[in-house]
Amino acid sequence: MSSDDEPVKTICPYCGVGCGISVQPGAEPGDMRFMPWGEAPVNEGRVCIKGGAATEVVDHEDRLTDPLIREDGEFREATWEEAYDLVVSEMQRIREEHEPDAMGFFGSSKVMNEENYLLQKLARRYGTNNVDNCTRMCHASTVWALRTSLGAGAMTNSMADLRDEADVLWIQGANPGEQHPIANSQYFRQAVLEGATVIQVDPHANKTTRSFKIDETDRHMHLQLKPGTDIPLLNIVLKTILENGWIDEEFIEQRTEGFDDLTETLEDFDKEAAAEECGVPLSDIEAAAEKYATADNAAIFTGMGMSQHTCGVDNVQNEINLALITGNLGRPGTGVNPLRGQNNVQGTCDVGAMPNVLPGYQLVDDDEARESVEQEWGFEVPPEPGLTNVEISHEAGKSVHGLYVMGENPIMSEPDGNRVEERLQELEFMVVQDIFMTETAKLADVILPATTWAERGGTVTNTDRRVQRMRGVEKVHENTKHDLDIMMEVGSRLFGDEKFRFDDVEEVFEELRQVCPIYHGMTYDLLGEEGLQWPCYEPGDEGDTFLYEDEFDTENGLGQIEGVTHQPPKETPDEEYPLVLTTARLEEHYNTGTMSRRSPTLNRQHPENFVDIHPNDAERYGIEDGEYVKLKSRRGEITLLAQVTEDIKEGVVWTTPHFAAASANRLTNDVLDERAKIPEYKAAAAEVEIGIEP
Ligand code: SF4
Repeated sequence: MSSDDEPVKTICPYCGVGCGISVQPGAEPGDMRFMPWGEAPVNEGRVCIKGGAATEVVDHEDRLTDPLIREDGEFREATWEEAYDLVVSEMQRIREEHEPDAMGFFGSSKVMNEENYLLQKLARRYGTNNVDNCTRMCHASTVWALRTSLGAGAMTNSMADLRDEADVLWIQGANPGEQHPIANSQYFRQAVLEGATVIQVDPHANKTTRSFKIDETDRHMHLQLKPGTDIPLLNIVLKTILENGWIDEEFIEQRTEGFDDLTETLEDFDKEAAAEECGVPLSDIEAAAEKYATADNAAIFTGMGMSQHTCGVDNVQNEINLALITGNLGRPGTGVNPLRGQNNVQGTCDVGAMPNVLPGYQLVDDDEARESVEQEWGFEVPPEPGLTNVEISHEAGKSVHGLYVMGENPIMSEPDGNRVEERLQELEFMVVQDIFMTETAKLADVILPATTWAERGGTVTNTDRRVQRMRGVEKVHENTKHDLDIMMEVGSRLFGDEKFRFDDVEEVFEELRQVCPIYHGMTYDLLGEEGLQWPCYEPGDEGDTFLYEDEFDTENGLGQIEGVTHQPPKETPDEEYPLVLTTARLEEHYNTGTMSRRSPTLNRQHPENFVDIHPNDAERYGIEDGEYVKLKSRRGEITLLAQVTEDIKEGVVWTTPHFAAASANRLTNDVLDERAKIPEYKAAAAEVEIGIEP
């Protein structure tokens, strides 16, 4: 391609909003420029700072350009032939010496649907369901609760219908002003300009608070609760609604079950004691309950502040309870809507890169569903769910001896990163497929250099279930390979047949849609430039902008209400660690920072990590704003800058996971929600002391 060529229309590689952008090829392969795509379906040409800077990392000097093999503790350049031989022979050896479940496979929410589809197919052909992706760390509990109680683990509504129809936006544990900037500016702010009210529930005042000027109006509210008290806060809301009769009796009667369980759970519930526990005035919570329950259409947005707890499933179930008893489901402008983090986190789950489900959320232990997929694939799938990614890390060196990592960086992304690093060193073999030398890749036995988002095509699925096509410009480094080509080659060599041979990425999508009922009606032609929202069962279906108009997708068609009670975080403050550490992300960086920390534009905004400390805590510790401090938990310590601010409550400290040298995940707790196996990133006991510049 050359600079005379037309810009290529594709999708931003960062967050789950799924903004369309264009890439203008330059004179040289790596010479790409960002261009707006004015008619892009989601964002109509607008982008945030990350989207505008996305091309900066494509030709970065740190790119991995050749396969690497570890020998005598050092990496040496290798041919692809050598690298493939080693990967395949080690995977075969591990299966022979141990069993198929001795391997784990990590897919990636930064990688496209077709590539994740082939990775999970490879794992299952190998004989294990030990395949997972980083959605485990962000919304596994949300997916669990939504799938169990409503039917599908996804947004019930769409950004567009919420903008046009919602009267109240209830945003709990999410920060769209920072994490989903275009959803916030183009959809939610528009709804507010037209009269919608925002109720934000979050321990941290942030860009969302500021973008709606929440402190300056009576219309909007910020309920600044203590981390880990979302259930008592929502129980106050639910009980207030019950006391005042603000329920939708007809909806409860006709479309739900479990209402009695909720009323029994709340019968002796003490609202005043609960408000004390939350650290929020009872009258404020009651006022918020009235705003939500008496609105014509009220929509809930839920984020990782809800999901990343040991009670994550119950947190989200309580949001579902709220929507169900007020009849705020099954029509535009309502629903329970998870804001998904990465540009393909929804799709990675949709295509089955999870240990308990096959493509389209068909349960692996459902004989009928499994057999129908087996028939298409031509091989048997193990009938028992496998290990999740944190469980795989916990088992490294014990029952798990080999790991295949495609585009993931568990040392940075998983909690208690120091232990993850130690455990991965216990593996007999690890292969990492990535674009940069990540903290995890440094421990690999083989590194396979992959291409970036701008160099290849495929599909991704955004936060409101829209499947969109990405289109590649051209390869920057001759000796790198697309993830899809690597998966096809490894699969073909490992199994010696044609089940991993495809002519191109579209042919992989064609097979995917045969085994994934919610994608069955999609083809590349039908996706076109607009994309399609699932469920899309047959060609010609236009997809659904909102779900559950007539019934829920549960066994009996009814939405499931279930009362839940407070479960404090597993680690609470004590004398040694008297503070609560909570974590979140910044607009200018992206998760483990593998890409964003290499972007000059993004790095200039936030070159290093910092911790928010309340002025009263700072005074007690003698800490000045802008000073280096040591932040410690039972699992490690990091040194970072102190930002003294009233954005955070007294007794709570807040920091980010983006920076390798001072990542919050060196401190976070790896205790899991029992059902969804999501770690409790959002609350750990911590201590702070004056530090010295690292
Ligand atoms: Fe990219 Fe998300 Fe920003 Fe849109 S809002 S440009 S998808 S990072």
